[in-house]
Amino acid sequence: MKNLLILGGGTAGTMMANKLRKELKASEWQIRIVDKDPLHYYQPGFLFIPFGIYQPHDIVRTKKEFLAPDIDLLINEVEEIKGRENKVLIKGGQELPYNVLIIATGAQVVPEETEGLKAELWHKDIFDFYTFDGSVALSKKLETWEGGKMVINLAESVIKCPVAPLEFTFLADAYFTDKGIRDKVEIIYVTPLSGAFTKPKATRILSKLLEEKNIKVVPDFYLQRVDNERKVIISYDEQEVPFDLLVSIPVNKGADVINRSSMGDEDGLNFVPTDKFTLQSKNFENIFVIGDATNVPASKAGSVAHFEAEILTENILSYVNGMPMEARFDGHSNCFIETGYGKATLIDFNYDTEPLPGKFPWPVLGPMGLLKVNRSNHWGKLAFRWVYWHMLLTGKKLPVSTHMSMAGKEVEPAKEEEVLV
Ligand SMILES: Cc1cc2nc3c(=O)[nH]c(=O)nc-3n(C[C@H](O)[C@H](O)[C@H](O)COP(=O)(O)OP(=O)(O)OC[C@H]3O[C@@H](n4cnc5c(N)ncnc54)[C@H](O)[C@@H]3O)c2cc1C
Repeated sequence: MKNLLILGGGTAGTMMANKLRKELKASEWQIRIVDKDPLHYYQPGFLFIPFGIYQPHDIVRTKKEFLAPDIDLLINEVEEIKGRENKVLIKGGQELPYNVLIIATGAQVVPEETEGLKAELWHKDIFDFYTFDGSVALSKKLETWEGGKMVINLAESVIKCPVAPLEFTFLADAYFTDKGIRDKVEIIYVTPLSGAFTKPKATRILSKLLEEKNIKVVPDFYLQRVDNERKVIISYDEQEVPFDLLVSIPVNKGADVINRSSMGDEDGLNFVPTDKFTLQSKNFENIFVIGDATNVPASKAGSVAHFEAEILTENILSYVNGMPMEARFDGHSNCFIETGYGKATLIDFNYDTEPLPGKFPWPVLGPMGLLKVNRSNHWGKLAFRWVYWHMLLTGKKLPVSTHMSMAGKEVEPAKEEEVLV
């Protein structure tokens, strides 16, 4: 019996276990997942909790219910990956041997990395919405908050779902408008990027939306510390932005076990050096990495984990059969961006092609619009929760191509009036 061991049973680990279970004979391969938490959180739902659009129970299920019966789930913390010995040490001292290892331990927020962020005002006037507890605490705060300066701040640019802070900002504008207190709230978006987003065409359109919604953007702001007494955030070059309510996207890092195993990349963020095409570890031939845990230059998003899972399944099957690994991940990422008032936009891009305007998934028909703000995109975003629980996690094939397609994309930039419908 051979062992395929998966570390992390979140989005990517669950998909990989279910996909590979269909392909690898149960009489030859044991598939085991280790995760420290028995619960599975639908993380895109963290965005909606603060505004009461989803309730906490809408986004939490057990991990076990998404795994095929002949996958072994072990709830325990991985202490160390011993790559040279083909073993993993778990809490309590047990060692788990493997023939093939998949690292799917994700990314986490680490507010402790920034001086003063997780201090006196934490969960009083400073919140995050990147964790279940953070988003629930923020929903309680917003219920009774009467207005003032709301600052949304990205401590770092490498974060999970890079568009989620913008979505939060747009939803906040709509939420306060609905509550009739928008005129009492100043919304300020403070980012280390030089614009609203990393890619030029999307940045142009998203910046225009921010302007229309009367949201001020402070670019090139590298957070150094938070002064709780004066209620200001301070950058490395001593710029200051005062706040009444700070919504922080703290530094994102890979799992602590990556650091404990000395497997992180050089920048100290604990992401695992990974071949960006094959998804094989750069240091160990029988270790593969997927999802937020990798250091590949793609977005850290569930959609990326999904496209990677298709590629990695093919490559692991080739690897175990002694064949060359020919499947190539192209960096495909696909994200809805909520813009408030029941509308959203959509971006689709990869390593080489930035988000372009057009129709998705079918040319002419759409019904979703790339870099267009419309209701179909919003319904697509809401429907995705059902797709996630019922199709994505269980490893079913979705009607979206693994590699980014140029079909439906307009290569020339769209005219302004076509964009903001
Ligand atoms: C607010 C927010 C909004 C988002 N919106 C979207 C969106 O709209 N679209 C989209 O595509 N993506 C979105 N994402 C991103 C998406 O949720 C992640 O990219 C995706 O979940 C990554 O999957 P993963 O398996 O790599 O990591 P995860 O799903 O986070 O799983 C990692 C698992 O590893 C486990 N683990 C870690 N360390 C250990 C250890 N030492 N021992 C045992 N277990 C361990 C954890 O418990 C966890 O279960 C959003 C994320 C956030 C936070």
